[in-house]
Amino acid sequence: MTTTISHWVNNKAYPGTSSATAPVTNPATGAVTGEVALANVEDARAVIGAATAAFPAWRDTSLAKRTAILFRFRELLEARKPELAAIITAEHGKVLSDALGEISRGQEVAEFACGIPHLLKGGFTENASTKVDVHSVRQPLGPVGIISPFNFPAMVPMWFFPVAIAAGNTVVLKPSEKDPTAAIWLAELWKEAGLPDGVFNVLQGDKTAVDELLTNPAIKSISFVGSTPIAQYVYATGTAAGKRVQALGGAKNHAIILPDADLDLAADAMVNAGFGSAGERCMAISVAVAVGDIADDLVAKITERATTITTGDGTTNADMGPLVTAAHRDKVASYVDAGEKAGATVVLDGRAVQADGGPDGFWLGPTLFDNVTPDMSIYTDEIFGPVLSVVRVDSYDEALELINSNPYGNGTAIFTNDGGAARRFQNEVEVGMVGINVPIPVPMAYYSFGGWKASLFGDTHAHGTEGVNFFTRAKAITTRWLDPSHGGLNLGFPQNA
Ligand code: NAD
Repeated sequence: MTTTISHWVNNKAYPGTSSATAPVTNPATGAVTGEVALANVEDARAVIGAATAAFPAWRDTSLAKRTAILFRFRELLEARKPELAAIITAEHGKVLSDALGEISRGQEVAEFACGIPHLLKGGFTENASTKVDVHSVRQPLGPVGIISPFNFPAMVPMWFFPVAIAAGNTVVLKPSEKDPTAAIWLAELWKEAGLPDGVFNVLQGDKTAVDELLTNPAIKSISFVGSTPIAQYVYATGTAAGKRVQALGGAKNHAIILPDADLDLAADAMVNAGFGSAGERCMAISVAVAVGDIADDLVAKITERATTITTGDGTTNADMGPLVTAAHRDKVASYVDAGEKAGATVVLDGRAVQADGGPDGFWLGPTLFDNVTPDMSIYTDEIFGPVLSVVRVDSYDEALELINSNPYGNGTAIFTNDGGAARRFQNEVEVGMVGINVPIPVPMAYYSFGGWKASLFGDTHAHGTEGVNFFTRAKAITTRWLDPSHGGLNLGFPQNA
């Protein structure tokens, strides 16, 4: 039996007028489990209209009332997250523990946003000029758009919407059409937490829905996360329409392993960050750069660990689930074919995996390549699957040059016991998020998340104080109150006195 997944407007499901739908599958079985509505322009305008109508009252709702709702949202999420994890596993395929992990990382942003009264405090200067005071405030933008990718159906939207809502904006979330149900579950939770109608809305759809968000003048900002070509398109179209845009793109994350590194720690990290969530993480490590004569040992240790990974249905005890769709599995497998053909050494071949799951699931096991060179497509392209490449280099400088000449700059890591080398790396590497003996450096909610170069278009990273700045506009107010000393007309240019 399949379910229909519709839009969410004014705290209830909204079927829309479009008859177009897209199938939603369970990646572990291959079965179609739902049909998601694909909005036409009219539907998109109806959703945006609800967010627009709700804005004036929400921006004037006191901070005390807004944060009370946020606290309730956080408490409900904490209590009920296993339900959401089950939804994510059923549509995305990642194992339940991983789904719970992504919810917890999103929840941290909701916790951060509970402190919004402190974060929105402005400055005040008394007597900037004689009897003239200056103060600053930050005000919400209006209705804001969030467009999210398939790989984190809960966490990525939560990088943005708790801060946006806390700051007084109203939201239209356009989730990935591959796993759209998590957004509806979160919308229901907001309703239960007491969020007024129209403050949080969900628009299901594809390019048509995205284009309306990008060009409709009622939408004041766009927070996008997805692949680099679409991020570039979103940034160009949204800014041309006068909107504030933060568009987070793809990644090709390298880890450098120096000769003095703890190789067991490094091998654990390569396996966890290379194959966790089947490599469908923007912070996955896809290239291990082995410096000097440690490469043979490192490859042996990674192989030893990766061969113990079990691949199967995410609801079982498997370590790794399937890929999100059959088409994506086939695309990743075609990269493995290409890597083999290009002459890389296939150490572990995920195409031959025996998965503990349905025969029609979208399976591909952990794949390890050695002797990868920078001209191969498995090196140049973002594969977004469980494929780890080992590149052998002779020196730190050669490793750094590889990373800095890569078009992407999302995350990177260095494994070493030499503090001086690590410090040099954090200073010299042209990447937005850096781990030192830590493989997936996703910053805490009170820091900001964002890459450099082709991994982010726009000036502002997600959440943390940058997120607060993104979802608010600053205003400076200069005030003079007449008092008995006020001295009459003066047409001269006002000067501080
Ligand atoms: P995607 O670019 O295909 O889709 C992202 C969103 O854009 C979805 O909501 C989708 O419906 C929409 N979209 C797709 N095609 C479109 C088009 N032609 N015009 C307008 N909108 C369109 O990305 P994905 O496959 O869902 O997610 C994986 C990608 O996201 C990877 O490249 C990954 O690196 C990236 N990602 C980046 C980060 C980060 O923080 N930088 C985080 C998560 C994922």
